[in-house]
Amino acid sequence: MATILKGAPVVSAMNKDAAARCAALAQRGIRPTLAVVRVGAREDDLSYEAGVLKRAEKVGVGVKQFLLPAEATQEELLAVIGQVNEDSGIHGCLLFRPLPKQFDDAAVRAALDPAKDIDGITDASLAGVFTGTKTGFAPCTAQACVEILKYYNIPLSGAKVTVVGRSLVVGKPAAMLLDRENATVTMCNSRTKDLAAVCQAADVLVVAMGRRGAIGADCLRQGQVVVDVGIHVGEDGKLCGDVAFAAAEPIVEAITPVPGGVGTVTTSVLIRNVVEAAERAQA
Ligand code: NAP
Repeated sequence: MATILKGAPVVSAMNKDAAARCAALAQRGIRPTLAVVRVGAREDDLSYEAGVLKRAEKVGVGVKQFLLPAEATQEELLAVIGQVNEDSGIHGCLLFRPLPKQFDDAAVRAALDPAKDIDGITDASLAGVFTGTKTGFAPCTAQACVEILKYYNIPLSGAKVTVVGRSLVVGKPAAMLLDRENATVTMCNSRTKDLAAVCQAADVLVVAMGRRGAIGADCLRQGQVVVDVGIHVGEDGKLCGDVAFAAAEPIVEAITPVPGGVGTVTTSVLIRNVVEAAERAQA
């Protein structure tokens, strides 16, 4: 039976660290503060936002909400982003995307000050992921995969790592962050030939393909560590991942659960990034 790499202990360690750093900043009269910018009220966004607000309060991060109606204009949203950029009391910005279709996503992303880009959406942040410079931050979900692997002391240096998925939000940055840990990384996409063999060859398999239960026993082998990034609602109405958990668990060495794995750590990465942005702003 596989070891379950639960997110809870990772979250607890990260929250403790963030709270201590918040307390140190408070002594200097600084309260790390997050701007939450939401257009409309999509159910997914509301549930993520509720988790962020709860986590922020727990570690002592302030939150300012900027809520726009779904029919808001590009100019209105850019004005809000401008306000966030200008406000020295705001250290990080969470902008919910995808934006409604009237928005020019690239232009909105480009308007955000990279120093406040705690969710890794600007090109400057992504460039930082490639170069290793601390410009902005890596996308939180990609970072969360690395945080889990490191917390559980999974060897990465020299390990064969396969990342299934190449989105800018998860797969590509995760591959780059794992490369930085000296893993030998293979990145897969929808045209990859013999995906099962490429997955089986990996010591560590990170799955971010957005296909419910698509990674089954044929892709897995004993001794592997599996990080499941996918989030779906199963036929039984329960949350599940890209990996067929019941098939994987008896085979692999260790696996992250869904829910309670990558998703929960993602929120803590976001909050920690706000604290780090506040620290960087004082440096
Ligand atoms: P995405 O933008 O849809 O990207 C999916 C990637 O998987 C694409 O690169 C695609 O390849 C690749 N892919 C699809 N089918 C494949 C196949 N048969 N073989 C190999 N590769 C295949 O999804 P995403 O935004 O990266 O998200 C991935 C999953 O993570 C989703 O389930 C999402 O809900 C979840 N997610 C979770 C969190 C969290 O905090 N836990 C955060 C964000 C996303 P192509 O590029 O060729 O199309």
